[in-house]
Amino acid sequence: MTVTIKTFDRLADAANALSSERGAHFFGGGTLIMRAINEADPSVQTIIRSTDPALQHISVSSGRVELGAGVTMAAILAERELAFLHPVARAVGGPAVREAATVGGNLFANSPYGDFAAALLALDATAQFAGGFGQRELPLEEFLGRRDRGTSLVSSVAFRRPPTDVFRFHKVTRVHPKGISVLSISAQLPVASGRIAGARIAYNAMGQTPLRAKAAERALEGRPLDAAGIAPALAVAADGTAPVDDAIASAWWRREILPVYLRRLLLGAVHT
Ligand SMILES: Cc1cc2nc3c(=O)[nH]c(=O)nc-3n(C[C@H](O)[C@H](O)[C@H](O)COP(=O)(O)OP(=O)(O)OC[C@H]3O[C@@H](n4cnc5c(N)ncnc54)[C@H](O)[C@@H]3O)c2cc1C
Repeated sequence: MTVTIKTFDRLADAANALSSERGAHFFGGGTLIMRAINEADPSVQTIIRSTDPALQHISVSSGRVELGAGVTMAAILAERELAFLHPVARAVGGPAVREAATVGGNLFANSPYGDFAAALLALDATAQFAGGFGQRELPLEEFLGRRDRGTSLVSSVAFRRPPTDVFRFHKVTRVHPKGISVLSISAQLPVASGRIAGARIAYNAMGQTPLRAKAAERALEGRPLDAAGIAPALAVAADGTAPVDDAIASAWWRREILPVYLRRLLLGAVHT
């Protein structure tokens, strides 16, 4: 099957082509889309690329972080100001995958992929779009839930930079150091006067797309991060999740181990 490749200087032109051409897919780093092409996936008829430098843009200020959708995991690891995200970027595949895998592509990766997208969800990120979507910016949570997200071109993501030591991440995998997720947990855990105030927790591989642990977040509110304080959150850790059975783990196993690793993360027993 022939695949047509179209390259555009401007993101807006790429976005128009993506939304108007049949069987069109945007090319991020290609770690997944190349697999689809190699397997002669008939849904991939046209590849849309863009050389727009905005895709590679990284901006880190004291208050806000912006990442172009084409920023790779390797580029994040090279940015000292993004140290809080290094454990997440380092958890995506091996070195060769990280050189190519992009932030934007991770938002479209199906479970059990999506570790970086889950971290962005915990960081309350928004996604920005080039052309097409009608609205230029959406909360990531809303975007991940949309069925029609495949025709939109994500140009960047943005979020408030978390205070030091507030963001935590842990990935559970069978193969170290670069295995695929059994699950991963990302959390922002702000503490005021010794008690949690406004936790945001997100899981990867506990549903078709990354999702928030809203019941656990509610159960943590106003409680200290100690064994007794987190017990109610652990009891509802798997509420609202819908993990799948796959070659990595069964849905049952994912639900079983989730509270174990959430406990370790909340108590600070694991940070990466
Ligand atoms: C061996 C291997 C190991 C992996 N390990 C992990 C892992 O541990 N954790 C993990 O999360 N993932 C993993 N992945 C999956 C993948 O590498 C990452 O999810 C990566 O971030 C995908 O980005 P990409 O740029 O390569 O996507 P691409 O392959 O370029 O694209 C993937 C999909 O996203 C769409 N897309 C890409 N960018 C955009 C954009 N800006 N706007 C709109 N649509 C877009 C494409 O059209 C395509 O449908 C692994 C993949 C491989 C091959």
